[in-house]
Parts: sequence; C-alpha cells; structure tokens
Amino acid sequence: ADPQIGIYGLGTMGAALALNMADNGIEIAVSNRSAGPIAEFMTRAEPFAHHVTALDTLEALIDALPTPRLLLAMIPSTAPMDAFLEQVIPLLAEGDTVIDAGNADFHATRARSAKLAEHGLHFVGLGVSGGEDGARHGPSMMFGGSEESWTGLQPILSKIAAQFEGAPCADRMGPDGAGHFVKTVHNGIEYADMQMIAEVYDLLRHGAGLLPSEIGAQFARWNDGPLESYLFEITGKVLSYDDPLGKGPMVDAILDRAGQKGTGRWTAIEAVKLGQSATMIEGAVAARAWSAEKALREVAGAALGADRAGVTPDVEELEAALLAARILEYSQGFRILAAASEEYDWQLDFARIAEIWRAGCIIRARLLDDISAAFREGAPEGQLFLAPRFAPVLERGIPALRRLVSEAIAAGYPLPVLSSALAFWDTLRQPRGTAALIQAQRDFFGRHGFDRVDGKDAHHGPWWG
Ligand code: NDP
Repeated sequence: ADPQIGIYGLGTMGAALALNMADNGIEIAVSNRSAGPIAEFMTRAEPFAHHVTALDTLEALIDALPTPRLLLAMIPSTAPMDAFLEQVIPLLAEGDTVIDAGNADFHATRARSAKLAEHGLHFVGLGVSGGEDGARHGPSMMFGGSEESWTGLQPILSKIAAQFEGAPCADRMGPDGAGHFVKTVHNGIEYADMQMIAEVYDLLRHGAGLLPSEIGAQFARWNDGPLESYLFEITGKVLSYDDPLGKGPMVDAILDRAGQKGTGRWTAIEAVKLGQSATMIEGAVAARAWSAEKALREVAGAALGADRAGVTPDVEELEAALLAARILEYSQGFRILAAASEEYDWQLDFARIAEIWRAGCIIRARLLDDISAAFREGAPEGQLFLAPRFAPVLERGIPALRRLVSEAIAAGYPLPVLSSALAFWDTLRQPRGTAALIQAQRDFFGRHGFDRVDGKDAHHGPWWG
C-alpha cells in the first residue's frame, strides 16, 4: 500500500513517532539527512517492517508519497527547518502539507505558514508533548493549521495519540501558529510545576531535615490524591534513587544548574507582549537562569552567608497549598492562551485544551479533568480561579499557602513560584489596587495624564498648576 505519511528526521523524537505510527498499522515512508539513523531505525522497526518504506534521500521520500502529500519533519525547528522548506517547496505539489512537529516559536510557524501558502502549500505547526516515551507510545498533540490538513492528518494523529478514557489526546487548536503556541504555554506551565515541586523539596529537605528518599515517598503518597500528576510521580521515583557511583542519594550528585531550551522563556515573553504577566512561569524561568550562575552563588554564599532556619511544614497543609498553587498556575497559563486567542483570532477551546493535556503530556494531572469541567461549566470572566468548583479547594488552600510561604520566607528560603502565586491572587482580589499612585507619578514626571474615579474631566494633577 502507498505510504500515508512521510517522516523526515529520525532522531530521538522522529524515530519514536515513526515507530508509533508503524506499530499502529499506519503505512509510512521515512528518511533522514544522514544514512546511519535510517539503518538504525529499520532495525528497530523490524516487527512492523511491512508498514515502512525507507528512502535514502528527501527527493525519494517526497516521490514515494501519494498526493496530496503529508510530509512530517522532526528536525530542529530553527534554521534547519527554513533550509528544509527551501529544499522541499520546489519538490511539492499544490495542496501538499508540510508538518513541523518540533518545538517551534509560533511566530516562525506563522511566517512559514504564510510563505508556504504563497506556493499553494499547507504548513502545520504540530506541538508534540510527552518526550521520547510519549512520542513512541502516545503523545499529546496540539495541531495548528488548515482544516484541509487536519482532515488528512486527523486519522493518523488519533491513532498514535495518548488516549484518555477512549478519546485521543490530539486536536486542532486553530490555524497557523495555534498548535505551537499551545505547546509553548504547556511547557511554561511545566516549568512552573517543576519549580514549585523543587521549592517544596528544598523546604522538606533543608528546612524539615527529611532525606530525599523520605521526600520521594511523600511525593508518591501525594500522587495518590488530588495532586496526582506525571511530574509528582517521577519526582517520587527520582528521589528514591541512590548514586550508582557513590553512597548518597542520586539527586545530591547532580550539579544544581538547570538547562533550558527556551519554551518557558517564550511563554513569559509572549505573556508580557500580550499585556499579561504569568508571574509563576516567570518565576520558574528566573529560577533556572539564577541556577546557571553557580560560580556567582558560591561567591555570594561565602560573602553573605547561606544559612537559613528550620521550618516545620505540615504535610496536609502542604497538599492543600500545592493544590491551590497549581490552580493558580493553570489560571495564569490559560490567561495567556485567552489573550493570544483574542490577539490572533484563534478561538481556542480551553476545555478541549485541558482535555488533550490529560494524558500523554508532561503536565498531565488529575486536576485537568476539573479544569476542563470548569471551562465547560463557564468559569466567571473566563478565569479558572473564579470557577465555583475550585472555591472550596482555594478556600482551604490559600490560607495554607499563605502560612507556608510566610514561614519559608521568614526562614530564608526562596520561593519564586509559590510566593508569586500569592502576589497574583492578592492583587487580583483587590478591587482597588495601587495603580492610582503609579498614575500620579507618571503624570508628575511625564505629563501622562490619568482617568479620575468620578469620571470628571481632569486629566492632570495640580502639580501641573
Ligand atoms: P535529535 O537531535 O535526536 O534529532 C535531530 C534530527 O534532526 C536528526 O534526524 C538530524 O539528522 C536532524 N537534523 C538536524 N539538523 C538538520 C539539518 N540541518 N537538516 C536536516 N536534518 C537535520 O533531536 P530530537 O528528536 O530530540 O528533537 C527534534 C525536535 O523535536 C526538536 O524541534 C525538539 O525541540 C523537538 N522535541 C523534542 C522533545 C524531546 O523530548 N527530545 C520533545 C518534544 C519536541 P542527522 O541524523 O543527520 O543529524
């Protein structure tokens, strides 16, 4: 049978997606820039070899596909993607679809969509989450592109996606950059969730004096309750390991310098550009940036003192606090999605987004079921933190979070994510905030003017005479 889709790029993610397709009986054609990974792939694809056609070159791959073609590239979504597009545009026919399944900046995806459209071609930005294992056994996928491309791709994506209660975790988010944008915000939420976990770990480890294995066991217990999520699950596991090269816990042997490829930072930047601020995500990006300054932290620790006091967080309170923080973190993430949806006219379906994040992706969490339900019920002002179904959880969780953050800050622990959750909450629940004074200052130094509360027409303060 003819291949249904071509896959170019058999690195970690491309090979995993291709194996997933072949395993699900989808006829595929594959190729790679260099030859080695093609041979290696064919060895791994042995059990499903009858569904796979391997081609030596990109030209041959394109030739092997029936029109309208579906050509999926899993290569770096930066300059290599642009070079790839230059190469394929003359080889494709009107109506063909090129899919970028990498982690692209959605601005690049929008520009590439426009460029391919000039040639009568469709460009799809497909967000794929779940890492290598997800790609192999069922990722969560966020499609951005035309209806025509979706019609062609949907049967394939539905088969290979993670399934939640029988429904595939893959859907069309909207046109052009919508899929990559939703994937970017997914990663921003992932950053915040990871950092929040690290902050609690720090408190339990250094504040309460627990061993990593004890903290791991606690995360495993939390993972049996409302905090159930992939990140809690793996944290429990990670903390249970010892260093095979030493006697101590594995986590102690790892250099405390976090890497980042940019999606968390993009989320924070896009939020700011959209006139929003996702402070919990920004806090997580900041924490990774500061973590990279290891040498400086050593100098500063010696000069300023690194000591901090003990804390005694109550485990049940912690659970309530973390649940509240997670609701606020998702609130922030969905607010960015709402702002982008408005700006780019994507008409994102927030309940659906929460649903396709329930399985396959890194931020999958029990809470997402409630989040999708909250959107379907109609959250007041579109704000998750105002959703009636979260009221009892927040009523208990916010005071717990307040006690946790106060105790930790008094003892000298940095909580860039957990503390900014409270700043967000405490700002948005104040009908009258501090901005009147900001407006007065702006008017004083820059004659910027202000609106009056009584609606009267005085645009400048008396300081201007
Ligand atoms: P790998 O490094 O494993 O594979 C990279 C692939 O891209 C290889 O097939 C490589 O070909 C090819 N490639 C690199 N440069 C070029 C080029 N200039 N022209 C043609 N082909 C090129 O990367 P991953 O599979 O991890 O990542 C691929 C994409 O998936 C990235 O956009 C990444 O952000 C995204 N992603 C990764 C995730 C992960 O968990 N790793 C999760 C979700 C998305 P060759 O073999 O010839 O070098």
